[in-house]
Amino acid sequence: MPTTLKATTYNNYIDGAWAPSASGETFENRNPANTDDLIGVFQKSTRQDVEAALAAAARAYETWRLVPAPRRAELLFKAAQLIVERKDQFARDMTREMGKVLNETGGDVQEAIDMTFYMAGEGRRMFGQTVPSELRNKFAMSMRQPLGVCSIITPWNFPMAIPSWKIIPALVCGNAVVFKPASQTPLSAVNFVKVLEDAGIPRGVVNMVTGDGDEVGTPLTSHEAVRVVSFTGSTHVGRIVNKAAAPGFKKVHLEMGGKNVIMIMDDADLELAVDGCLWGGFGTTGQRCTAASRVVVHEKVYRRFVEAFVDRAKSLVVGDGLDPKTQMGPSNSESQLQTVMKYVEIGKGEGATLATGGHRLEKGAYARGFFHEPTVFADVDPGMRIAREEIFGPVVSVMSCRSLDEAIAIGNGVEYGLSASIYTQDINRAFTAMRDLYTGIFYVNAPTIGAEVHLPFGGTKNTGNGHREAGVAALDVFSEWKSVYVDFSGRLQRAQIDLEEI
Ligand code: NAD
Repeated sequence: MPTTLKATTYNNYIDGAWAPSASGETFENRNPANTDDLIGVFQKSTRQDVEAALAAAARAYETWRLVPAPRRAELLFKAAQLIVERKDQFARDMTREMGKVLNETGGDVQEAIDMTFYMAGEGRRMFGQTVPSELRNKFAMSMRQPLGVCSIITPWNFPMAIPSWKIIPALVCGNAVVFKPASQTPLSAVNFVKVLEDAGIPRGVVNMVTGDGDEVGTPLTSHEAVRVVSFTGSTHVGRIVNKAAAPGFKKVHLEMGGKNVIMIMDDADLELAVDGCLWGGFGTTGQRCTAASRVVVHEKVYRRFVEAFVDRAKSLVVGDGLDPKTQMGPSNSESQLQTVMKYVEIGKGEGATLATGGHRLEKGAYARGFFHEPTVFADVDPGMRIAREEIFGPVVSVMSCRSLDEAIAIGNGVEYGLSASIYTQDINRAFTAMRDLYTGIFYVNAPTIGAEVHLPFGGTKNTGNGHREAGVAALDVFSEWKSVYVDFSGRLQRAQIDLEEI
């Protein structure tokens, strides 16, 4: 049995101090590529810890909100620079704790850098509107104001990028946060919070509490001190979060599941499309909310595409993400792998053709990890569960279509609406698809993954609830508008009534 003897113990971060949970209990974090590798021991926190963190955040908010935004931003610029300096170590830690290959974890950390620099820039912008008043000697403008304490709840698949998408805009707007990372990736959370501490963010403004979704998540979503809940995770948990937050009329920002589609037309550059499907489908072992888990191919090029795609999928090197030769790492956990295996059985039972893969990898170096073959199902019917439900693993379902209209109908025919893409050389088809796919993100001649931090990120339907991360849109989650009128006429002027002759 693996041992816990030499593991480092990591604490919660509450009110500027690293401290153990009141429960005295901890949980282990192990490497999904090799479960003998114990990464650390983390706090299994309780409601009591969350309440201490919320109280610290509420206190700190009262002074942080009054720090001028450009000064708040100076600390964030420092934080961004510190992440740059620690990037390599952070990427290695992340690969060890969640499995994706090193250049992808480097990308994850880079996204946190980009977001932190970008949002720090907002400290000197955060534009409101100044508009002419309809009355003489009256001034009219709008400004953003912070809301107070924000609960930040994040998944494990982007362990530093996603926390940065939420925490940094929250801070630049003048809020205080309590952060609960996924229990599979607490080390990346510790790394990120340590950066914020080292950059000089005052005590209590950022707090981190690790532990179970239920135990820690419930008070974070229902406590009266919380004004904003920003959650990224599954649609199932998002629904629980939404309900818990509703009675207190909290502002709730949800980013949830996906079942994203790549559409390949008969005029597409097929080699490029295969490259895109490989990266979109098997990048991060298919564990991206934007993963291209569905591919819809025009019948004229369908067979050619399937053959080339299957060939390339077969040749992917699966292994430990720390090994530079590895192209695809393990699933993140035994339960994630079990989900993958369950869907492989469902696909076979539904009558799809298992074109490659379909098995857990267990021999030799794979024995102590959660590895699975890159898997392609062909001849999939859009009604099958493998074509409709999020699997979150290295499984791609390929379908055939007769026209662009049919591809769009299939693309839209799922409960999610995060990302979609089309491969075509025809600008008319590209723009038609761009208009008609009801998703939050759309790509032309690129896969469904690859968002940049300065445009809005999020999805429609059961993927999101109308908010967006990233870009200036993120400021709308973490601030509220205040409209301000200043009457310098020295008399009562009634809007809509006391209008003077021109
Ligand atoms: P998850 O829903 O299981 O967990 C997400 C977070 O919620 C974790 O921190 C978890 O501990 C916490 N949680 C669990 N129960 C809770 C409760 N009752 N109250 C409050 N918090 C609770 O998701 P996951 O397995 O960590 O991540 C995978 C999912 O995330 C996939 O569905 C994926 O599509 C989605 N995701 C979406 C986006 C997006 O931007 N749309 C990005 C990344 C991942």
